[in-house]
Amino acid sequence: MENSKSGISAEKLFKEGLGITYDDFTILDTIFTDIDREEMNLETTLGKDVVLKTPIIASPMDTVTNDEMCIAIALQGGIGCIHYNFKNPDGSLDIDKQAEIVKQVKRFENGFIENPVTVSPEHKIYETIKIGEEHKVGKSAIDTFPVTENGEPHGKVVGILRKQDYSRTKHTNLMVKERMIPLEKLIMAEWPITLDEANDMLWGNHILSLPVVEKNGSLKYLVTRSDLDKNEEYPLSTKDEKKRLRVLFAVETRPEIAYERLEKCFNAGADGCIIDTSQGYTMYERDMAEYIKKKYSDKLIIGGNISTKEACKTLEKLGFDAYRCGQGSGSICTTAGAIGISRAGASAVYQSTKQAKNMKTIADGGIKQVGDIVKALAIGADAVMLGNMLAGTSESPGDMIIDPQSGLPVKIYRGMGSKEANTGGIRGYSKLPQGISGQVRYKGSIHEWVPLIRDGIMSGFHVLNCKNIEDIQQKMYSGEIRFEKRTNSSVTESNPHNIV
Ligand code: IMP
Repeated sequence: MENSKSGISAEKLFKEGLGITYDDFTILDTIFTDIDREEMNLETTLGKDVVLKTPIIASPMDTVTNDEMCIAIALQGGIGCIHYNFKNPDGSLDIDKQAEIVKQVKRFENGFIENPVTVSPEHKIYETIKIGEEHKVGKSAIDTFPVTENGEPHGKVVGILRKQDYSRTKHTNLMVKERMIPLEKLIMAEWPITLDEANDMLWGNHILSLPVVEKNGSLKYLVTRSDLDKNEEYPLSTKDEKKRLRVLFAVETRPEIAYERLEKCFNAGADGCIIDTSQGYTMYERDMAEYIKKKYSDKLIIGGNISTKEACKTLEKLGFDAYRCGQGSGSICTTAGAIGISRAGASAVYQSTKQAKNMKTIADGGIKQVGDIVKALAIGADAVMLGNMLAGTSESPGDMIIDPQSGLPVKIYRGMGSKEANTGGIRGYSKLPQGISGQVRYKGSIHEWVPLIRDGIMSGFHVLNCKNIEDIQQKMYSGEIRFEKRTNSSVTESNPHNIV
């Protein structure tokens, strides 16, 4: 069968003993396409009911993933993992900041907002404006406040204050009770109520927000029209059962910090965590996994980084839901040179994923273009983790700057093991840096970029006549999908060439 078909099978391509990167091979167009794009989807699951409609995870790096990235990527069907490199002014780690970001993401698009920001009738208007600015959702300050008797989130409702209720020039020194819509004029719903019923009340009463109260009048939830509109605007969104965006956080293997971080971030509502270490095949990761599994058994837990079937087997036994696959292949990574241990990205994915029976594989590192994502999924990955490809977007941390040499807009992108990120020792890196800091081209907004990435992946799958990720992997393992190794000149040929 090998001889009668074009190209070679994945098994033959990835024979042991040779490192294959995404550039070293291509997929051949050997299957007649007779499916429609409407029949296709890119859905994947990471375990514990965490389903992504876009198989992309934003890497926990301090130039990639903060609140804005987590919100944007989750709205586009992926998920973000908040990095842990937040520092206090004295240089110690700021765990509260990471937990606060989890909260912000969870608050972003709620069906029922569980812990709305509330104020008391005695607050001054200028104080509420300040509170709103301290509780930003994405880029915008909160501007609708249920008013409760004692100011507590679940206190007895006495009114609501919206931005149209006061003037920022005339009323800031007045008290909330002087400008709020008072209880007698307030439209509220009594719990229990469905989201659809709440939506009907919003439309029926021409209002933008609806407090939902218990029988005794205490505030249970807030429902807002802008949230419901967002549901319609982003049909791919990655959400939990309460319709809140899903979010992950990175945690180190050092218990003295990690235990506190786990508690704070899970209490803040995180859906899962990634044990973020450059080498996951260690006793440190084992001990941390055992602790997390015991204490937070209902949460998604992702291990790594690893790149061999031996390591994969151990992680699977430890009960991880998923793992990051890739060592030394990241675009900012100097691990291979620093310690001499690494593996070509595609080889790592193919060899590890064959071993992972009950664990999802996240291809991490070395994915430079959309075609590499198609390749990673085709050789066994359930999702990809992106650093470089998301770093230059408007939602990644940091400002866009003009590179003086090229004159092109760029953003800074750096390895978490670089001198600049200064996480030496935390992510498992030695004092010798294993990463660098550089710049990547500015790519505009995630809301334009990710739909393009999705479109490219869909096109790849369509050419291969595959309806979904399971389909492409079945066809890869059965030998139906055919591959070809590439020479250096074929790589040159496949990029723009001979153009002036
Ligand atoms: P990229 O998308 O090819 O740039 O790879 C991103 C991945 O590189 C991350 O998800 C990490 O697994 C890995 N990584 C991040 N920082 C470093 C570093 O400083 N050294 C080595 N690998 C890194």
